[in-house]
Amino acid sequence: MLTGGCHCGAVRYEAAGVPDHATICHCTDCRRVSGAPALAWFTVARKDFRLARGTLRTYASSPEAERGFYGACGTALTFTGQEAPGEIDVTAASLDDPSAAPPADHVWTASRVPWDIPGDGLPQHPRSRGEEG
Ligand SMILES: [Zn+2]
Repeated sequence: MLTGGCHCGAVRYEAAGVPDHATICHCTDCRRVSGAPALAWFTVARKDFRLARGTLRTYASSPEAERGFYGACGTALTFTGQEAPGEIDVTAASLDDPSAAPPADHVWTASRVPWDIPGDGLPQHPRSRGEEG
């Protein structure tokens, strides 16, 4: 069981199952909503994710996507998209133990901030995984 939460502790979540699609996303939306050059994510089935405490506010960062965060401290926590209705993405760095969901690659590096240079040797995809070019 993976556990994590927001900075102030009002929101706590639990994610069962095996984290999938762990990645570092350099897309413009992740950058702008977080104020950080990139966001690390992992994916679990929606049925395997639950809030143990608190409630999320949501924000539609695009017509197809909704991001969940805690309204008081602002921590970015979740991403859900119409492309994968059965899945939820969770910010890996909000885990109590972020090493439990290490990234496998980088996505949307076409939008990467020039000074944010991955030095981890992981594969880099200009757009989403499997959508090259
Ligand atoms: Zn992104």
